[in-house]
Amino acid sequence: MTTIASNLQAVNAAISEAALSAGRTADEISLLAVSKTFPADALREAFQAGQRRFAESYLQEALVKIAALQGLAIEWHFIGPIQGNKTRQIAENFAWVHSVDRLKIAERLSVQRPAHLPPLQLCLQVNVSHEASKSGVSPEGLSDLARAVAVLPGLHLRGLMAIPAPSDEIAVQRASFARLNELYRELNLQGFQLDTLSMGMSQDFSSAIAEGATMVRIGSAIFGKRIYQEGVV
Ligand SMILES: *Cc1c(COP(=O)(O)O)cnc(C)c1O
Repeated sequence: MTTIASNLQAVNAAISEAALSAGRTADEISLLAVSKTFPADALREAFQAGQRRFAESYLQEALVKIAALQGLAIEWHFIGPIQGNKTRQIAENFAWVHSVDRLKIAERLSVQRPAHLPPLQLCLQVNVSHEASKSGVSPEGLSDLARAVAVLPGLHLRGLMAIPAPSDEIAVQRASFARLNELYRELNLQGFQLDTLSMGMSQDFSSAIAEGATMVRIGSAIFGKRIYQEGVV
């Protein structure tokens, strides 16, 4: 077995275990393989080991891999920061986008989603640890943004995503994920029909699963340490 295949097996086992100890079942949680900075061959290896959902953060790099792996039945997710001039290629090439945090971007994706494709599946990125990053809508602004996005054609609002400030403390990890879950439940009480909580990475996915994650985004635990700096590609 290749390293990537055995890493995948270990990650899937760890997801099942985290689900079990949270009183959940593994099939409630989808694994997104975060393949940014890794070459198409690494994705092919993961695909051959059964992985179907892949996530990328940098558009130009992603487009190269999407072209190289065209024959494979991969579901592509975009999870990186979105600039206004990149929306067209995202709308044309991805099944999901997790990182929408303002209306202008959602409106562009809505207009630019090709009519022959199914609606673009969308998560709103929320800034649950204020100091950590500038990305993400504030919890206070979330409900208005969700209301405006939910009615746009060509998009299907599925849920929320967050990248909390990294912490080694389980209690701190869980508090951020619990906060996102609380916002998710509030929206559903308001009448939204969200089914996706995209939260948890290699270092904290067990905490995310304990707090209700339905999609975990895992990179280094599958593909190994990223060897070049994020943002360079
Ligand atoms: C890189 C990245 C991940 C995966 O991080 P790992 O620590 O390698 O698992 C998950 N989500 C987002 C938004 C990322 O940019």
